[in-house]
Amino acid sequence: MCLFCKIVNKEIPAKIVYEDNNILAFEDINPKAPVHILVIPKKHIETLNDINNENSKIIGEIYAVIANLAKEKGISKTGYRVVANCNRDAGQEVFHIHFHLMGGRKFQWPAG
Ligand code: 5GP
Ligand code: ZN
Repeated sequence: MCLFCKIVNKEIPAKIVYEDNNILAFEDINPKAPVHILVIPKKHIETLNDINNENSKIIGEIYAVIANLAKEKGISKTGYRVVANCNRDAGQEVFHIHFHLMGGRKFQWPAG
């Protein structure tokens, strides 16, 4: 079972900030911004390449959760970044799709 599936199953602890039947959001263990939350589907999907017409509904739901969390954390007006890394060149480390919600500081574009 992958690391994030273990977090979904509560086999590994995490600071959970949101949970429903299909989605889990928890604080990143190595935060790269004052707010750094990972939002994941509970169902294991390996990479962005594996999103298709059968499972893509969850992506919209994840973005609705992100919008609510951004409001809750007080970063919706100042701004925030949502990042999903896919495979080697993007630096994907955990092969269970996740959306990084990062805010509370200014970001560089296109990196940093
Ligand atoms: P990726 O590089 O795959 O896009 O991001 C993986 C993220 O998962 C990293 O930001 C890393 O800090 C985070 N991470 C790795 N292991 C754990 C863990 O056990 N718990 C939590 N909460 N985050 C983790
Ligand atoms: Zn998984």
